[in-house]
Amino acid sequence: MSTIPGVVAEPELRDWLVEALGPHVQDDYEATRLLLDTFDLAAKEGNSLNNPHHIATCIASTPSTNGPWTPVHTDQAAATLHAAYRITRKPANYGALFVDLPMPVVVSRHQCPFCRRFTRADIRQVNDHMTRCWQNPALRCCKTCIHHQDGSHPEDDESCTHPTGPEWEAYRFPVLHCPIWEAAHPEASGAQESP
Ligand SMILES: [Zn+2]
Repeated sequence: MSTIPGVVAEPELRDWLVEALGPHVQDDYEATRLLLDTFDLAAKEGNSLNNPHHIATCIASTPSTNGPWTPVHTDQAAATLHAAYRITRKPANYGALFVDLPMPVVVSRHQCPFCRRFTRADIRQVNDHMTRCWQNPALRCCKTCIHHQDGSHPEDDESCTHPTGPEWEAYRFPVLHCPIWEAAHPEASGAQESP
């Protein structure tokens, strides 16, 4: 039989916090860590639960009667927290609730063997991409051709360097199924040529 834990009232929270921290909060994040060891803090506004950054910011926002930049009074921090959060005590057997470890999940994706950049979970999308991948030597496209000069130099336009290839003003990338295509990397095209 388990009982639903009751909401912690402000005096209970205040007594617990003063016991744990003393009269002043010295470190918002350390106070938050101690709180979350014992309590669950669900924000009354929004749906944040046990968010250490939110809780530490809430503690720091506590008005101090001694003026700004002075340590927050623990009892006033308790009031601020109680106003902002629905606070419940963790069950006594809390540690035993998490005996299982998080499970790694292995995800399989497929990658284009030509460009090695296109990857999808769905193999059909990769098959489709491969029919128009510029790095597929079966397309006999400029990108895999030894006569292709790419546009990587500022003074050199992208062009075809083959003597019978298109003049630079007539050249349009990419030429596909080109009759004068030659593999830039012969070992890559070998697998694609039929005997
Ligand atoms: Zn590709």
